[in-house]
Amino acid sequence: MTERKVRVRFAPSPTGPLHIGGVRTALYNYLFARQQGGEVILRIEDTDSQRFVPGAEAYIVEALGWLGIRFDEGVHTGGQYGPYRQSERKEIYKQYVTQLLDAGLAYIAFDTPAELEEKRKETANFQYDASTRMQMRNSLALPEAETRALLDSGAQYVVRIKIEPDEAVTVHDLIRGEVVINSSILDDKVLYKSADGLPTYHLANIVDDHLMEVTHVIRGEEWLPSAPLHVLLYRYLGWADTMPAFAHLPLLLKPEGNGKLSKRDGDRLGFPVFPLEWKDPKSGEISSGYRESGYLPEAVVNFLALLGWNPGNDQEIMSMDELVAHFSLERCSKSGAKFDYEKGKWFNHQYIQQKGNAEIAALFMPELEKHGVQAEPAYVELVVGMMKERVSFVKDLWAQASFFFVAPESYDEKTVKKRWKSDSAVQLAELLDVLHPVEPFTLEHTEEVSMAWIQEKGYHLGNIMNAFRLALVGEGKGPHMFDIVAALGRDETIRRTQRAIEVLK
Ligand code: GLU
Repeated sequence: MTERKVRVRFAPSPTGPLHIGGVRTALYNYLFARQQGGEVILRIEDTDSQRFVPGAEAYIVEALGWLGIRFDEGVHTGGQYGPYRQSERKEIYKQYVTQLLDAGLAYIAFDTPAELEEKRKETANFQYDASTRMQMRNSLALPEAETRALLDSGAQYVVRIKIEPDEAVTVHDLIRGEVVINSSILDDKVLYKSADGLPTYHLANIVDDHLMEVTHVIRGEEWLPSAPLHVLLYRYLGWADTMPAFAHLPLLLKPEGNGKLSKRDGDRLGFPVFPLEWKDPKSGEISSGYRESGYLPEAVVNFLALLGWNPGNDQEIMSMDELVAHFSLERCSKSGAKFDYEKGKWFNHQYIQQKGNAEIAALFMPELEKHGVQAEPAYVELVVGMMKERVSFVKDLWAQASFFFVAPESYDEKTVKKRWKSDSAVQLAELLDVLHPVEPFTLEHTEEVSMAWIQEKGYHLGNIMNAFRLALVGEGKGPHMFDIVAALGRDETIRRTQRAIEVLK
């Protein structure tokens, strides 16, 4: 077999917002393709009209774009293998349905949903397969003339794959190794429905992977049970030679590790399970997203990359380029990955520290505006530089740093009781006299002059600084005192201190 160019696809069904586990699948496909110098396709698997949700496709495209997961081909990008929306490929699938029927590898079944329901009630664990199909209403069991008559009358039907029993079917999985099952456990799955003229997921998925020359199918573990059927379909369609390699990714588990991560876990523990906020078009219910919760896309990517894969050493902070360089399917774990939400916050904190102050300041601007603050970008940058170390989210800068933008209106009672001494007013008034003429009004100068004065007077350093902080901040928090003084500047420092003296004396 000649070496084929690596081509992978992310193939979501637009049935709602993309779950964070789906985002990880997209990311791993992207990392693998980039690393292998291959291509990654975005294909929309929308053949199940019952489960179609308006807005879901646009959501998927926007979410992956936000995270920097780019596609070489697909919906919204185009490409030579399109269309990339399965609902637009009806005619293509039809010919393979015919091929399978003509070869006797599939058959037509007329059983109505009610009849199937009846059968399931009658027989425990009923499975439509070699052992039962001759009791059913299909082209194998019915006389040929009857089948023809039913078709001519326009009766609705489905096409089912004809699975031969008792055959070993092997799935070679790059993560799990060899998985062998007996074909008797498979049922004669529906491949096509005349009702809407559309194939089911299984057929469309295989036909498209073949026609789009996909070399590796990287997807969630929940699809592993379908893989033997897919292997058979490749064989039935005559494509066994170019069957893609499979890699089924481990599940994302609840933070406690027991069972699959669900939206309910997010609601219960207060974290998003979707990349972007999502408003359910029917119920209007809003689900929170990583973007709206203040996550940086780089942090989400880094966090997700390590949920089910590791680089083989303890490096944790990795840019997209580094992830591309180090990624390998062999290092993906077989067992589920606990969704450690706190770790996600930690990553966000790290990325905030790593980014330039100007970039974080730009993200903080809208938050300031929300609080009615208009500030110079250079000033915001200065404040961000002093305060970002204390936060995991840009929006939390407000709680930490609002005093840089608005003077305290009141003074924290507890701090006043503890920190404002009987001589504080007099001392701060003296301090203002000392600070007033300092030129230039920098951190170094203001600090030097203040310290010399305190020493000369024999004052208690802690008492003075505590009262001064209370005057400028309104409570007992904040960075180094003279960082605050220098940032606020001469006029504001004097104004705030005078006001505190007036109010608290
Ligand atoms: N449409 C399937 C999904 O929604 C794709 C499974 C696959 O990648 O084969 O996840």
